[in-house]
Amino acid sequence: MPGKFVVLADLDGAAGVRNPHECFPNYPEFEQYGVPHMAADANAAARGLFKGGASEVVIVDGHLIGQNLISARVGAPAHLSAKTLLEELQGGAVSGLFLTGIHAKTGTPNSFSSHTIAPFLAARVNGDIVGDSLLVAYLAGALDVPLVGVSGDWVACEEIQWALPWILNSPTKTGFDRASVRHHNPDTARASLEEIAARAAAPGAGRVVKPSREFRVELSLARAEDAQLVARALDGAGPPNRRVFAHAGQDFVEATAFLGTAVGAIYPAWVDGLGRRARPETPGGYTAGGMLDTALIERFMGPTAPYWSD
Ligand SMILES: [Zn+2]
Repeated sequence: MPGKFVVLADLDGAAGVRNPHECFPNYPEFEQYGVPHMAADANAAARGLFKGGASEVVIVDGHLIGQNLISARVGAPAHLSAKTLLEELQGGAVSGLFLTGIHAKTGTPNSFSSHTIAPFLAARVNGDIVGDSLLVAYLAGALDVPLVGVSGDWVACEEIQWALPWILNSPTKTGFDRASVRHHNPDTARASLEEIAARAAAPGAGRVVKPSREFRVELSLARAEDAQLVARALDGAGPPNRRVFAHAGQDFVEATAFLGTAVGAIYPAWVDGLGRRARPETPGGYTAGGMLDTALIERFMGPTAPYWSD
């Protein structure tokens, strides 16, 4: 039965976002173009879900530390959640999760703003390099909430289709490289997004996505200084040159607690790609003042680094 749906909104893959400066609050383009485009995609998804029969739609802010959207930009009767994705899912009675603004995983050269969770990280599940969409699908799956559809960068939509061939998806743009895109008309892209979201609200449109029963999650750090901070946060020790951290288990909520501790050591208060808040929960270091460190952003927008040597 259609009921309450959650839209997890990211910014990078939103229709109309074309310049890296639109992705970060350090630059005027963020408020001028980035956040309005992010909100417009989330609103289009919400309209579609209602059209498809949803009785309630909440929008969760899933970009950076999750403090970008404001209620005034969210079209009623959808409403903006003050919670993280995990908190919404744990509240129960969620019929489905829809993702907007998705971007491709770390190491994808032909996709705008490709990264996994945050700059200079990569993740694997059971040996496969995965991106944010699959990670949050597994988090929802751990709480028996199906992923019903996605929208974002064309390559990001293709990436999730490799893992979930049945997924309803609506591409918004085609990346040339990590810093530029070939546009689809944003209005046309959002009309398509609304249609797809309407279909996604139908019973049986999505599936509960789980990794194999026993799984292994790994996080790789491109930068040695980041790896040291993560090692200290996770276990206070470990060899100084370790760059890969692993968690084995059967409960993906626990896996995201591991990821939240690791990511929080570098990006305190982060929610992007995690679906929960990284610890510590107060911004600091690279996220001090709620902004991402500008020097880090400049490096991030350069050529992608190799993360896995195999
Ligand atoms: Zn984001």
